[in-house]
Amino acid sequence: MFLFLGAELLRGGVVGAMESRQHLVESGDGGELPTEELVEGAGVAFLVAAAGGAASAAAGQGSAEERGGDSEEESAAHGATAHDSVRCHDDASKPMSKDSRRALAALAEEVHRCRLCPRLVEWREAQAANPPRRYRGQEYWARPVSGFGDPEARVAIVGLAPAAHGANRTGRMFTGDRSGDWLYGSLHRTGFANQAESQQLGDGLELRGAYITATVRCAPPANKPTPEERDTCLPYLERELALLERARVVVALGAFGWDGFLRAARAIGKEVPRPRPKFGHGAEAEIGRWRLLGCYHPSQQNTFTGTLTVPMTDEIFERARALAT
Ligand code: SF4
Repeated sequence: MFLFLGAELLRGGVVGAMESRQHLVESGDGGELPTEELVEGAGVAFLVAAAGGAASAAAGQGSAEERGGDSEEESAAHGATAHDSVRCHDDASKPMSKDSRRALAALAEEVHRCRLCPRLVEWREAQAANPPRRYRGQEYWARPVSGFGDPEARVAIVGLAPAAHGANRTGRMFTGDRSGDWLYGSLHRTGFANQAESQQLGDGLELRGAYITATVRCAPPANKPTPEERDTCLPYLERELALLERARVVVALGAFGWDGFLRAARAIGKEVPRPRPKFGHGAEAEIGRWRLLGCYHPSQQNTFTGTLTVPMTDEIFERARALAT
């Protein structure tokens, strides 16, 4: 489930000024922000080995506030790893390289072991230790959640973070909660998923041409990762985007995902226009080799209120398919 974003910011589509990044989580995609929630040769080798991604962000690149602005300094510091090592494949007709496939799998394993954010580690495990009545007796994943889907995807979907009792319980993005029901329903109708249901690992769900990931990989308290937590986790998204060689469209679910993608893209050396493109449902921007497409998050606060409807959701993924082909 993502957090509620105020109508004012919805109208304004504000995703910029990062003095208010914390505020962003609360206020930008027209409803709830979910709590629920590239490379050749040496570059791939680097990414496989680079625990340095997230770790470097945690270890010494300054506070989130220091890194929060749109400064070139931030871009350079945050993106140093990917900047130097990542090269994107521009020929989307090529199949994904085996190296990148292996690197993507290795990255997932690395994510699963991550404990860089003490507050989030404590929170994700506490949710498992004291679940709501309906989930008592279930074994929670209670670890970071890696991306899920088709490594050859032309469409990448970027959300906010796992939900405490959704992906944090099941171990797969948007699995086991209402946001997932909504999202996978749309992906099924628009031909990206083989089924509409996503209840648990091993339920047969497969994505075709789509890959789902998030800006932050651990469920945050009150659905609000801090700017520092976001920045610590962001290198995972940077590396994932780089490894998804064939992706040409990014669907951002909510303002936080939109902002996270722009930060990650800049960190791996892609030019982000100034002023930065504003989030909105149906908003589009050209960023590097990707077409960025905004979609309100499929949280219950958006879907229950009619802020996000089934046709609105399907239109986004139909548009993503059209842009990707
Ligand atoms: Fe690691 Fe990201 Fe979880 Fe922080 S939020 S502990 S960086 S996986």
